[in-house]
Amino acid sequence: MRENDFSEMRRNMVASQLSGRDIRDKTVLDAFEKVPRHEFIDAKFYKDAYSDFPLPIENEQTVSQPYIVALMVQLLDIKKSDKALEIGTGSGYETAILAELAGEVFSVERLKDLTEKAKLALKKTGYKNITLKTGDGMLGWEEFAPFDKIIVSAGAETMPGPLTRQLKSPGKLVLPVGPRIRQKILLVEKTGKGEILEKEICDCMFVPLIGRYGWKDSNARKDI
Ligand code: SAM
Repeated sequence: MRENDFSEMRRNMVASQLSGRDIRDKTVLDAFEKVPRHEFIDAKFYKDAYSDFPLPIENEQTVSQPYIVALMVQLLDIKKSDKALEIGTGSGYETAILAELAGEVFSVERLKDLTEKAKLALKKTGYKNITLKTGDGMLGWEEFAPFDKIIVSAGAETMPGPLTRQLKSPGKLVLPVGPRIRQKILLVEKTGKGEILEKEICDCMFVPLIGRYGWKDSNARKDI
């Protein structure tokens, strides 16, 4: 497949899956038209690189459906002046979308292999405003807190307290919360007075957020 084929697939993805639904924010649409999703997945999935579903990555994880990523970042209303935190780097695709929208992006992934692979893909695609680390993202990233915007891309059983504490006032956090198989996307807003407001957006299905305050995984590797 050639770069032109991928560009055309991206344009079609934006038209049918994003603006064809309820993604209206022009900066979000532009970011999705620009970021090469195929660079973040295995070549054997290239024909589906811009399809309307999640794709497998290493360690039984997934790169999320483009529409869900777009919906979550649109809810955050990210500005170039924002410092953003992502929990669950995975392939690095969403990290690249965030890097198009925010000034600075910090991203935490619990599996070292994924952090290393994402680092390579983000270097290849030329992103420089990103800092990655391997660790338990439910603890946030105290060193760089507070953050204007936080996005969690794995399903939490309950709201991770450190993340709301590390959110700026005002600031926005979006995350899937609920049972292990099916969750709800929740938009959490911290007002200028530090008050926390929560709004349920829609149902979703994410891989579990695993860690000290999250789901326990008997098969979990000891990367963190
Ligand atoms: N945003 C990613 C992308 O664009 O490819 C997709 C992320 S995938 C749906 C969820 C990721 O969260 C997995 O890579 C998983 O290893 C990671 N994860 C699960 N629990 C975590 C935790 N406590 N801290 C950091 N990452 C975690």
